[in-house]
Amino acid sequence: MIFDCIILGAGASGLMCAAKIKNAKTLIIEGNQKPGLKLLASGGGLCNFYNADLSFKNYYGQNPHFCISALKSFDFEDFKKLLAENKADFTLREDGKFFARSSRSVLDALLNSLGQNIDIRLGCKFKKALKNGDIFEVYAGGEVFKCKNLVCSLGALSHKNMGASSAAFDLAESFGHEIVPPYPALCGVVFTGDLKNRFADTAGISLKAELTCGKNKFLGGLLFTHDGISGPALFNLSLYGIKNKTLEINFCPQIKAEDFIKQNKNGPKHLLSLIERLIPPRLAKAILNGFDKKTADLTKEEISQTAKQINDFSFTVEKLTGYEKAEITAGGISTKEISSKTMMSQKTKSLYFTGECLDISGQLGGYNLAWAWASACAAAKSINEN
Ligand SMILES: Cc1cc2nc3c(=O)[nH]c(=O)nc-3n(C[C@H](O)[C@H](O)[C@H](O)COP(=O)(O)OP(=O)(O)OC[C@H]3O[C@@H](n4cnc5c(N)ncnc54)[C@H](O)[C@@H]3O)c2cc1C
Repeated sequence: MIFDCIILGAGASGLMCAAKIKNAKTLIIEGNQKPGLKLLASGGGLCNFYNADLSFKNYYGQNPHFCISALKSFDFEDFKKLLAENKADFTLREDGKFFARSSRSVLDALLNSLGQNIDIRLGCKFKKALKNGDIFEVYAGGEVFKCKNLVCSLGALSHKNMGASSAAFDLAESFGHEIVPPYPALCGVVFTGDLKNRFADTAGISLKAELTCGKNKFLGGLLFTHDGISGPALFNLSLYGIKNKTLEINFCPQIKAEDFIKQNKNGPKHLLSLIERLIPPRLAKAILNGFDKKTADLTKEEISQTAKQINDFSFTVEKLTGYEKAEITAGGISTKEISSKTMMSQKTKSLYFTGECLDISGQLGGYNLAWAWASACAAAKSINEN
């Protein structure tokens, strides 16, 4: 039999695409034994599925403008209706993030809304696809399936334990698409060298900090872990590629430490006690790195050096937490040869790419799922119209 459409991957994007395909006889092929594993883990089980403040500025890639058309045409009201019809309650938080009652309820809503025309094969690993005339031959789970439209919603490299693979990139390359070098993003930094010892006693500290790498800057939560740093501000910065670059951290963005120390030279006796008024004590110890002195005796140079460590602590990022912990993969299938309106390949008719496999990566806050939904709906609309 020849399917009208085969969707590769039963993740957020693949399921949304299937939910929006009207009558076309469609098969979803998924390598895991269960659909939507990553969706289930999203938002710590509460699935931050959208953001009220959505623009291409929240996305990164070689051409972030690529996402505008699909995001604009995405009918969010319709999606909310789908959730409501399936009793998947959600809340809009003050910061614009939409969270579900549970990720499970979002997954169930998508699965419930699949029409009679949709079949799903679980535990079926996709290997490769070829095109013979107008028909795609899809090799998966030891079988060959045939279809007129092929949608690749295979995600990318983050979280192998949830089914991640390079299959989308391999497929795209086999059809002549360029891959923008991928890297783990929305992830933390692992301390190496001297930093490892210096910050060994800081695990669990969390504070508001300003992080800068090149021309990108984020103000927000920073968390010290057992082996490095994490938190929203760092996650967002990691989107822009921070490996082997200089990361600057302002641990106390609201106060100029140099002025503070000068003004309080007659305050606490020792520098450490003074610094503890600016940043958490264990961090203050790590920042001073064994140095301490009576505040009254500090030289100009010592004040300025200490202040620099607080307001402009910089080091080269040598190691990231990697794909096993990264929420997403940045980079991916170049958008250069994909239609931004339909997600169809401009090299191969009726071949579509949606979701995270494309070189469009969102900040924290529901932007990646918003992209998964929007790109999937754009592809489904094109398939419905053809
Ligand atoms: C822990 C965690 C929390 C997150 N939380 C949020 C959040 O709250 N909000 C947000 O916006 N984003 C969040 N994200 C990111 C978001 O989940 C992803 O961007 C989104 O799931 C991408 O959707 P996708 O359909 O493109 O890929 P995926 O959801 O990864 O789906 C791809 C599917 O393809 C399947 N597959 C892969 N290779 C093969 C193969 N060879 N054969 C068959 N099937 C295969 C996979 O098993 C998977 O089911 C989170 C990510 C993680 C890891």
